[in-house]
Amino acid sequence: MNATATTTSRRVARVFRGQPTSDGAGVKLTRLIGQRDLDMLDPFLLLDEFRSNSASDYIGGFPSHPHRGFETVTYMLAGRMRHADNQGNSGLLTPGSVQWMTAGRGIVHSEMPEQEDGLMWGFQLWVNLPAGDKMNAPRYQDIAPERIPTVEAADGVRVRVLAGRFGDTVGPVSGIAVEPLYLDIELAAAAHCAVKIPAGHNAFAYVYADTAELGPADAAKRIERGELAVLERDGEKLLITAGTETTRLIVVAGKPLNEPVARYGPFVMNTPEQIVETIRDYQAGKF
Ligand code: FE
Repeated sequence: MNATATTTSRRVARVFRGQPTSDGAGVKLTRLIGQRDLDMLDPFLLLDEFRSNSASDYIGGFPSHPHRGFETVTYMLAGRMRHADNQGNSGLLTPGSVQWMTAGRGIVHSEMPEQEDGLMWGFQLWVNLPAGDKMNAPRYQDIAPERIPTVEAADGVRVRVLAGRFGDTVGPVSGIAVEPLYLDIELAAAAHCAVKIPAGHNAFAYVYADTAELGPADAAKRIERGELAVLERDGEKLLITAGTETTRLIVVAGKPLNEPVARYGPFVMNTPEQIVETIRDYQAGKF
């Protein structure tokens, strides 16, 4: 290590707990971004965790609904979800898979559980599109679990690279405007690792099993399961140390767009006028 190099870890700026809510046809979930305390983290508009063993919490699914102006990213940890849209696209999301859907100018789709019992667990992230891309044609990247590289970064450290780069490994999701990093990291008890985070990107870590210490050794912060840590902008990496059991977390970063956001349910544009136009287009069947 070069002692003069400024390879400092980002610090934890703020910590948030999700809010329990429901969406779709009564799917119970925890909203981490896009809630009262954390409206957005540019370019991220929403992060939900859905996790339940009880079919009544998820069986209603997300029947037919529209999107325009952003991207939805579904990452499944457990369970199966069937996706279908009004343009004839369809796919099955299985455990360990990711779907990066660029809604662009508009799609109408459904996301329905393909199981009647058992655990359903995963995340949905909403990523904003820059003004110039909001009316692009819709695009899907359905990535099967085996296409997501897993890096054994060190003893007891496994990193799945969904998007962006970890060391020399590049994730399969490509061509996304905000140049996202999306890692799913598992650390054995007390293991540690460093994750490089692109300069200037906004970044967060969400701990979904056990606890993790995040940040530089002299200012690490302990993050509990169910807590989302928003990182400071300074620093080019994040130091992570596992708790006393197997620790699991996602680390996500993206280039902020710094554009005005006009948001109405499943539509995310730049101005209120564009939202009115979007509703008109949707009602006229133009999606
Ligand atoms: Fe949707």
